Amino acid sequence: MGNKLVEALSSMTTSSEEVTPDILVMNFTVVTACLVGDTNEGVGEWVLVDTGLENSADFILKSVEKRFGKNSRPQAIILTHGHFDHIGSVIKLSELWDVPVYIHQLEIPYITGKKDYPVADPTVDEGMVAKMSPTFPHTSIDVGFRAVALPNDGTVPYMPNWKWIHTPGHTEGHISLFREKDRVLIVGDAFSTTKQESLSSVVLQREQISGPPKYLTTDWKGAENSVRHLMDLKPSLVIPSHGKPMKGEEVTQHLEILVNHFNEIAKPKQGLFVSKQ
Ligand SMILES: [Zn+2]
Ligand SMILES: [Zn+2]
Repeated sequence: MGNKLVEALSSMTTSSEEVTPDILVMNFTVVTACLVGDTNEGVGEWVLVDTGLENSADFILKSVEKRFGKNSRPQAIILTHGHFDHIGSVIKLSELWDVPVYIHQLEIPYITGKKDYPVADPTVDEGMVAKMSPTFPHTSIDVGFRAVALPNDGTVPYMPNWKWIHTPGHTEGHISLFREKDRVLIVGDAFSTTKQESLSSVVLQREQISGPPKYLTTDWKGAENSVRHLMDLKPSLVIPSHGKPMKGEEVTQHLEILVNHFNEIAKPKQGLFVSKQ
């Protein structure tokens, strides 16, 4: 039920925004995904980073056609982690394009039918999204042989100049993507710029620096360390999966606030994954 509501919301208000000449952020309201790569037709390679919800595929395909031309295909799909709102269209698109799906080694079991995420925890927050989160899909999908672990050396296949950064906490094999030359950071769910637990914040895209979505985060110490790690990279443009991109001085200030007040801002006061630590 909750998932259907999220999908309906998403399809009503989808939009996209070019944040650098080679990055298009597709915003499905409840989550984002990115097309990254050279738009000179027939020249460059490009990839899709994350795949939105199950009903996001059509918008992604339309955006691809507009940006790269008819029948253009990426070299690969890169996933920040395996949660349902990031892998929703991955089976459909990876089969259609016949491309590999790169993800951190530790997330491979979650996209090859071997391991399920825990059910989301509704007790972390009063917000409506948190309350309906246990109905979100949490069981493993299976992309089969197309699932490939990211290289150990930190490079990202078909994303020259980018490095993947292990940012565990939200999930064990969560990654963010960083390009040093212009300090662009694709955050994934390591932190958000909206309060993802609240329906009105999500719908209105109200800006508010926030930790990872609370109802699905299982290791809060790890999550805190990961945000600190990302702050130390001094990003100049951040593209989160939840919320709007943020740039310049605003990023520095907000990240500092988040790191210095992580317990108050990010960490739930109570919850299944809090008391264990
Ligand atoms: Zn997630
Ligand atoms: Zn997410």
